[in-house]
Amino acid sequence: MTYHRETRAVRMPAPDHVEGRPVGVPIYQTANYAFDDPTAVASAIAGPGGPYFYSGYSNPTVGVFEKALTDLEGGAAALATSSGTAAMSAVLHAVLRPGDHVVAQKALYGGTTAVIGDLTRNWGVESDFITADDAAELAAVLRPTTKVLVLEPIANPTSFVPDIAGLLAAARAAGVTTVVDNTFATPMLFRPIEHGADVVVHSATKYLGGHHDVVGGIAVFADADRHREAWQQALRFGSIMDPFSAWLVVRGLKTLPLRFERQCANAQYLAERLAGHSGVDAVHYPGLPEHPSHKRATTLIGGYGGTLAVEVAGGREGALRFIGGLRLVLDAGSLGGTETVAMHPATTSHRSMDDAALEAAGIGQGMVRIACGLEHPEDLWADLAAALN
Ligand SMILES: *Cc1c(COP(=O)(O)O)cnc(C)c1O
Repeated sequence: MTYHRETRAVRMPAPDHVEGRPVGVPIYQTANYAFDDPTAVASAIAGPGGPYFYSGYSNPTVGVFEKALTDLEGGAAALATSSGTAAMSAVLHAVLRPGDHVVAQKALYGGTTAVIGDLTRNWGVESDFITADDAAELAAVLRPTTKVLVLEPIANPTSFVPDIAGLLAAARAAGVTTVVDNTFATPMLFRPIEHGADVVVHSATKYLGGHHDVVGGIAVFADADRHREAWQQALRFGSIMDPFSAWLVVRGLKTLPLRFERQCANAQYLAERLAGHSGVDAVHYPGLPEHPSHKRATTLIGGYGGTLAVEVAGGREGALRFIGGLRLVLDAGSLGGTETVAMHPATTSHRSMDDAALEAAGIGQGMVRIACGLEHPEDLWADLAAALN
């Protein structure tokens, strides 16, 4: 039978690509999926990896990003989320129960510290924070209820590198689930699952997406059962990644190796130039031989990342005047994209800390964090030098 024009306008056929596979990743901008066999619907709802049913559960474009990161990190499965914080929240809420104990590195992304703070204030979870310079620190705080250890291979903004291999081994021996935020190292430099980590979390907003144009996150799991639990938690939070964000991240991911290499090279160049400038009191970058984590970064991670920090003379006023004098480098908070950005942690990302907490975290009032983009290093140096002078 021939349908009315109104019906035909609505019920146009779905695109088919029987002959020839698309080379670019298509955006599956659909919320809903239809089935020919009504008995197949139940298996689609039951868990990750089944047929697509609803894009709040899973989506083919999002699945491309999940498969790519599973491969790059060497995991069993991945869960892409609406932000890096959403990935960390889904993972921690999936593993922790009231009465459980979580141990975390002191120098942690502020949003992760806030998630752990909420878990301890409102959800009956207990926590301890360790410097993470030595595996023995875990043994000193370990309890029968310790469930999770949270680490970052390159901490922000000091570039401190924890004894991650030793801590992952000690946690494994104690039956503690390990969660590693690999945002600053990226899988190009470091793959925590190869060292025994259970879960790797990324803010895809940063280096993976890499263009300052998308907010997203992902968690990669060494074990498929843990993936299923975190997926169910992310469904409760309603924090699954959307297809257009996934498309932007996948497009960015294709150039991650080239971009990150340039970002690391720019950071090394600027760290060396800044270290020789009289207006700079200190440079924190593990690619400099005098950085306390230089040896560990070299042997364990094999690289130093795209972000450095400088202590400029004149404390807080000096730092803010320096940032205000920049013309090419942008004063912006998020990082990892094509444009170089600078930020004053003491008045922005770490403003909730008092002076004692800042000092314990190694963050001075004169510290400025510089996250490198892809500009020519000499143009960046000229801008920094002009602002210092
Ligand atoms: C930005 C960031 C996050 C949070 O990611 P969002 O995508 O902003 O939620 C987590 N960890 C690190 C190390 C980050 O830099």
